[in-house]
Amino acid sequence: MESPSKRRKKNDTKPTPITHRSLDFFFRKQGPSNEVNGTFKGTGALEKSDNIDDDQSPSEQTLTDEELARKLQEEWAREDGQGNDEITNSEERPDPTHAQEIEHNMEENKKDFVTAALDRSDPISQAIPIENKKSVLGLQSTASDEDKITLTVPFDQSPLTFDPSQYVSELKSHWAADGGDASYALLTRCFYLVNSTQSRIKIVDTLVNCLRLIIEADPKSLLPAVWLATNSIAPPYISLELGLGGSAISKALKKVCGLDSAGLKTLYDKHGDAGDVAFEAKKKQSFTLRKPKPLTINGAYQTLVKIANSKGHGSVEQKQRLVERLLQDARGPEESRYIVRTLVQHLRIGAVKTTMLIALARAFRLSRPEGADFTIMDASELAKLKKEDLAVVWSKAEEVVKTCFARRPNYNDLVPGLLEVGVSDELLLRCGLALHIPLRPMLGSITRDLSEMLTKLQGRDFSCEYKYDGQRAQVHCDEAGKVSIFSRHLEVMTDKYPDLVALVPEIRGDGVSSFILEGEVVAVDRNTGELKTFQTLTNRAKKDVDLSSIQIDVCLFAFDLMFLNGEPLLDRPFRERRGLLRSMFVEKEHHFTWVRSIDATSADSDVVLEFFKSATDIKCEGIMVKVLDNLPNPDLIGEEPDQAEKDDTPGPAPVTPSKKGKKSSKKSQVDKEQEKEKGSRRKALLSTYEPDKRLDSWLKVKKDYATSADTIDLIPVAGWHGQGRKAKWWSPILLACRNPQTGSLEVVTKCISGFTDKFYQANKEKYAEGGDNVLGAKPSYIEYSAYEPDVWFEPQEVWEMAFADITLSPTYTAAIGLVNEDRGLSMRFPRFLKLREDKSVEEASTSEFLANLYRKQEARIQATGGASNNRGGDEDEDFDE
Ligand code: ATP
Repeated sequence: MESPSKRRKKNDTKPTPITHRSLDFFFRKQGPSNEVNGTFKGTGALEKSDNIDDDQSPSEQTLTDEELARKLQEEWAREDGQGNDEITNSEERPDPTHAQEIEHNMEENKKDFVTAALDRSDPISQAIPIENKKSVLGLQSTASDEDKITLTVPFDQSPLTFDPSQYVSELKSHWAADGGDASYALLTRCFYLVNSTQSRIKIVDTLVNCLRLIIEADPKSLLPAVWLATNSIAPPYISLELGLGGSAISKALKKVCGLDSAGLKTLYDKHGDAGDVAFEAKKKQSFTLRKPKPLTINGAYQTLVKIANSKGHGSVEQKQRLVERLLQDARGPEESRYIVRTLVQHLRIGAVKTTMLIALARAFRLSRPEGADFTIMDASELAKLKKEDLAVVWSKAEEVVKTCFARRPNYNDLVPGLLEVGVSDELLLRCGLALHIPLRPMLGSITRDLSEMLTKLQGRDFSCEYKYDGQRAQVHCDEAGKVSIFSRHLEVMTDKYPDLVALVPEIRGDGVSSFILEGEVVAVDRNTGELKTFQTLTNRAKKDVDLSSIQIDVCLFAFDLMFLNGEPLLDRPFRERRGLLRSMFVEKEHHFTWVRSIDATSADSDVVLEFFKSATDIKCEGIMVKVLDNLPNPDLIGEEPDQAEKDDTPGPAPVTPSKKGKKSSKKSQVDKEQEKEKGSRRKALLSTYEPDKRLDSWLKVKKDYATSADTIDLIPVAGWHGQGRKAKWWSPILLACRNPQTGSLEVVTKCISGFTDKFYQANKEKYAEGGDNVLGAKPSYIEYSAYEPDVWFEPQEVWEMAFADITLSPTYTAAIGLVNEDRGLSMRFPRFLKLREDKSVEEASTSEFLANLYRKQEARIQATGGASNNRGGDEDEDFDE
């Protein structure tokens, strides 16, 4: 059947309205309303094209490159002369060579030359030496200051053949001229190579090699490199936000690259990525000031921190200057691209948390800083191992690093620890739980329905708990009674829930000095205890809630206890943790209680079904099902099915070790790792608390799953004018998942079902033609090449979607290469379920998640002897309502 989109297109003579939009998307997600990704936020949108001229003086518009550069240099020289010293790259640390450098520059300036912009395509060949009268000012071609060594480091080699020591001394002597710190060019080289591949293996290898080189050549630059590569400057629980308006970058680009507003707008319209715009702008730029101070990794990071810390009167100007200096000091187009992507918090290199942790673990298995004595492995020995054995060695190291980061999710703790003690038991000891530092929460695996749940837990005792629909809260209280509350995403919520803070002394039983507990905060009727919807809870202010003005009452339903009286409880079975939670804390009606639960086994299916129904009757989302005990008989370990089936599940964490000797020879270390691994590869379901893991020992059974299958969280990215009754709305709507490796959004499906008229109306108002939330053209980061939609939405929300099944697609490229080399994945009969108010675009489902759903579906079909959906049908049949 012909799709509505096809039909509509035939009749459509109206041109799509093109509103020239800039990159609001990148900035919007940094806005204050984005609660979940809290560390690296800006506040505004990138300068809108319609007011793009507003901030530019007419005289500035007519300046030549050279005049502009001179003007800028004079401004900065003035500022520097006034002792405005906030903008140096390595000022955080003494710079012994700084004086020499100034001397050198002065010397250089005597024979300085100005390169005229006679031919932009070949500025060097057109250089006209002239005598420079000024002692400070100088201009030079942007193409003349290349860092040749950095550009040739083969970061994308296998780490087992890559030898950092070959490059260390040459790089060090190169860096010495600029103060001795590792150059930002090195990191840029790594970003460039990572960005040039889709292969996850290559991405990890490249990162590993880059980290190794930094560890061996300039270990103090490792921490800033890790922050920059993960596009953040602080952990989520420390509020450090860039607070940059989009116009800061537009202004800086114009000023530093000598662009006028029209030129900038043309580039934005063409590229749709702030970093790509900077790349092009810098490429076109013929001049830069003489000797911009080359960016170092540490300098770039410190400047970001400075931008974030710049507050109060004059901060806008100060931030602006810092951004301009960063752009000015960025040598060449690639550095500019990544500096700008960093500033807009959209680095697009796929070095998200998990990739970084894997890369760190492997890097520290192979390299250590000069003077460190922890054990590392010999790459040539590892190269002799079979693939599976090598995987075991890597995964052991990764497990340690991930465990540390799950308990202490802060690179400021992890990286210095690694530099001192490497991937070791000692590291696990250093990165234990700590009060007022949130651990990453344990997560529940999705279960299709109750029968699948019972099958998964065959033979084990489990607890079924109501799955309340509120907000997860991790409550910390120390001996002095100080309370901190953290969200699911580790942000501080203490100010949001002063009523819970006030409650703590009442619920803390006599024997409790300090604790970390977890529960769900739910809006309730204070008198009856009746549960209110999640929606009601979202109406509560997010910050600085005043205890006396609270309108929305909440009750905390506690479900786990991870720390008590100075002792971590993570390794204790759930039954024991739950027992302590129930016995050591005091219930307060309609304020604090424990989640409602029953204990059962798979023989109790009727009781479980009854309990599930009672949960949904009182507005709960379904139930959580948790294994109560570890297997009593260790001999049984190995007979249980492997639980590490999830993409983010590396298996159970190593238990906190005791201190022991740490040195052994490189070779025996490899053997030891393999021996340890033998016989323990298949893990039983554990009832321990496993931070940041999604294991089958915690299952979630939601009411939606009872009727349909899995759900997926997608981002609406475009729409078509509706037909007939829906003509005044957008329908169908195009939806995409995320590819964290490439930073793109990959279109998966079009949807026309599940929407109410009210929803359609609100959606149309939100994405009104010519309005702020629509884009003039398809942004480059969206992967889609089928029928052109009538309007592109600025990606900004996440919708939970149900569907009948997942199919290989001839049209869509989502997850291409993951289950099929040539085809992407799509879904049949997609149905809108709800807006995920609690999720930002960065938390939408990934293409890997989509691929996993497909694999699961195919495995199920195989198991039941059914026919596969692997028929690659045309998704346009989805429009049969
Ligand atoms: P996830 O948090 O697992 O990544 P999600 O954000 O989609 O996924 P849900 O599918 O709603 O969340 O399920 C998990 C959430 O359910 C928990 O994070 C917690 O906030 C909530 N919850 C409610 N009741 C319980 C309970 N009894 N035990 C554990 N979690 C519960």
